[in-house]
Amino acid sequence: MKTGIKILATLFALGLGSQVAAKTCEMSIDSTDQMTFDKKEMTVAADCKEVKLTLTHSGKLAANVMGHNWVLSTTDNMQAIAQDGMQAGLDNEYLKPGDDRVIAATDIIGGGESTSITIDVSKLEKGGDYTFFCSFPGHYALMKGKFIVN
Ligand code: ZN
Repeated sequence: MKTGIKILATLFALGLGSQVAAKTCEMSIDSTDQMTFDKKEMTVAADCKEVKLTLTHSGKLAANVMGHNWVLSTTDNMQAIAQDGMQAGLDNEYLKPGDDRVIAATDIIGGGESTSITIDVSKLEKGGDYTFFCSFPGHYALMKGKFIVN
Protein backbone atom coordinates (compact mmCIF):
# COMPACT_ATOMS: atom_id res chain seq x y z
CA MET A 1 0.00 0.00 0.00
CA LYS A 2 2.76 2.45 0.95
CA THR A 3 4.69 1.70 -2.24
CA GLY A 4 1.59 2.43 -4.27
CA ILE A 5 1.21 5.82 -2.65
CA LYS A 6 4.88 6.59 -3.25
CA ILE A 7 4.56 5.80 -6.96
CA LEU A 8 1.51 8.02 -7.23
CA ALA A 9 3.32 10.80 -5.40
CA THR A 10 6.29 10.49 -7.76
CA LEU A 11 4.05 10.66 -10.80
CA PHE A 12 2.35 13.70 -9.33
CA ALA A 13 5.70 15.38 -8.67
CA LEU A 14 6.91 14.69 -12.21
CA GLY A 15 3.79 16.17 -13.68
CA LEU A 16 3.63 19.26 -11.50
CA GLY A 17 7.31 19.69 -10.65
CA SER A 18 7.54 23.46 -10.85
CA GLN A 19 4.40 24.05 -8.81
CA VAL A 20 5.44 21.55 -6.15
CA ALA A 21 8.87 23.18 -5.78
CA ALA A 22 7.33 26.54 -4.89
CA LYS A 23 4.78 25.34 -2.41
CA THR A 24 4.28 26.68 1.08
CA CYS A 25 3.51 24.03 3.66
CA GLU A 26 1.76 24.41 6.97
CA MET A 27 2.45 22.72 10.29
CA SER A 28 1.04 23.18 13.74
CA ILE A 29 1.92 22.05 17.22
CA ASP A 30 0.20 22.51 20.56
CA SER A 31 1.73 23.05 24.01
CA THR A 32 0.16 22.63 27.44
CA ASP A 33 0.24 23.54 31.14
CA GLN A 34 1.75 20.07 31.70
CA MET A 35 4.99 21.22 30.02
CA THR A 36 4.44 19.13 26.91
CA PHE A 37 4.19 19.47 23.15
CA ASP A 38 1.55 17.31 21.47
CA LYS A 39 4.13 16.00 18.96
CA LYS A 40 7.41 14.13 19.47
CA GLU A 41 8.27 14.28 15.81
CA MET A 42 7.52 16.65 12.91
CA THR A 43 8.30 16.00 9.28
CA VAL A 44 8.59 18.55 6.51
CA ALA A 45 8.93 17.64 2.85
CA ALA A 46 12.14 19.04 1.35
CA ASP A 47 10.14 20.29 -1.64
CA CYS A 48 8.32 22.78 0.58
CA LYS A 49 9.92 26.16 -0.09
CA GLU A 50 8.65 27.56 3.17
CA VAL A 51 6.80 26.20 6.16
CA LYS A 52 4.28 28.23 8.06
CA LEU A 53 4.48 26.92 11.60
CA THR A 54 1.82 27.73 14.18
CA LEU A 55 2.41 27.16 17.88
CA THR A 56 -0.62 27.11 20.15
CA HIS A 57 -0.80 26.90 23.95
CA SER A 58 -3.97 25.17 25.07
CA GLY A 59 -3.27 25.70 28.78
CA LYS A 60 -4.29 28.54 31.09
CA LEU A 61 -1.03 29.55 32.78
CA ALA A 62 0.67 32.86 31.95
CA ALA A 63 3.82 33.18 29.83
CA ASN A 64 6.03 34.04 32.83
CA VAL A 65 4.91 30.86 34.65
CA MET A 66 4.44 28.25 31.91
CA GLY A 67 5.51 30.03 28.74
CA HIS A 68 6.43 28.09 25.64
CA ASN A 69 8.15 28.80 22.37
CA TRP A 70 9.17 26.57 19.48
CA VAL A 71 12.85 26.71 18.58
CA LEU A 72 14.54 24.81 15.77
CA SER A 73 18.25 23.98 15.71
CA THR A 74 20.59 21.15 14.92
CA THR A 75 20.43 18.53 17.65
CA ASP A 76 24.08 19.29 18.56
CA ASN A 77 23.28 22.93 19.37
CA MET A 78 20.09 22.46 21.34
CA GLN A 79 21.53 22.28 24.85
CA ALA A 80 23.85 25.28 24.46
CA ILE A 81 21.05 27.41 22.97
CA ALA A 82 18.74 26.48 25.86
CA GLN A 83 21.41 27.28 28.47
CA ASP A 84 22.24 30.68 26.94
CA GLY A 85 18.52 31.34 26.53
CA MET A 86 17.86 30.77 30.22
CA GLN A 87 20.16 33.70 31.06
CA ALA A 88 18.68 35.90 28.31
CA GLY A 89 15.34 35.98 30.16
CA LEU A 90 11.73 36.36 29.16
CA ASP A 91 12.32 39.86 27.70
CA ASN A 92 14.47 38.16 25.04
CA GLU A 93 12.05 35.24 24.53
CA TYR A 94 14.57 33.05 26.41
CA LEU A 95 17.02 33.17 23.53
CA LYS A 96 20.37 34.92 23.37
CA PRO A 97 19.86 37.93 21.06
CA GLY A 98 21.30 37.29 17.60
CA ASP A 99 22.06 33.63 18.32
CA ASP A 100 22.95 32.32 14.86
CA ARG A 101 22.67 28.70 15.98
CA VAL A 102 18.90 29.22 16.06
CA ILE A 103 17.43 28.23 12.69
CA ALA A 104 13.92 29.41 13.54
CA ALA A 105 12.04 30.42 16.67
CA THR A 106 8.64 31.71 17.73
CA ASP A 107 7.98 34.17 20.53
CA ILE A 108 7.13 32.84 23.99
CA ILE A 109 3.37 32.51 24.49
CA GLY A 110 1.14 31.83 27.47
CA GLY A 111 -2.08 29.84 27.86
CA GLY A 112 -4.77 30.53 25.26
CA GLU A 113 -2.36 32.26 22.89
CA SER A 114 -0.93 31.28 19.52
CA THR A 115 1.87 32.51 17.30
CA SER A 116 3.16 31.76 13.79
CA ILE A 117 6.46 31.95 11.96
CA THR A 118 7.62 31.16 8.45
CA ILE A 119 10.64 28.89 8.08
CA ASP A 120 12.86 29.04 5.02
CA VAL A 121 13.27 25.35 4.13
CA SER A 122 16.28 26.06 1.88
CA LYS A 123 18.31 26.55 5.11
CA LEU A 124 17.64 22.93 6.03
CA GLU A 125 19.42 19.86 4.79
CA LYS A 126 17.48 16.83 3.73
CA GLY A 127 18.20 14.07 6.24
CA GLY A 128 19.89 16.53 8.67
CA ASP A 129 19.77 16.00 12.42
CA TYR A 130 17.40 18.67 13.76
CA THR A 131 15.55 19.09 17.02
CA PHE A 132 12.69 21.38 17.99
CA PHE A 133 12.33 22.43 21.62
CA CYS A 134 11.04 25.00 24.09
CA SER A 135 13.75 27.30 25.50
CA PHE A 136 11.79 28.35 28.62
CA PRO A 137 14.10 27.46 31.56
CA GLY A 138 13.94 23.77 32.38
CA HIS A 139 11.47 22.86 29.64
CA TYR A 140 13.67 21.38 26.93
CA ALA A 141 14.21 18.15 28.87
CA LEU A 142 10.56 17.29 28.24
CA MET A 143 9.57 19.67 25.47
CA LYS A 144 11.57 18.50 22.51
CA GLY A 145 11.20 16.36 19.44
CA LYS A 146 12.78 15.32 16.22
CA PHE A 147 12.42 17.57 13.17
CA ILE A 148 12.79 15.57 9.97
CA VAL A 149 13.40 17.00 6.52
CA ASN A 150 12.29 14.33 4.13
ZN1 ZN B 1 7.89 25.49 27.47
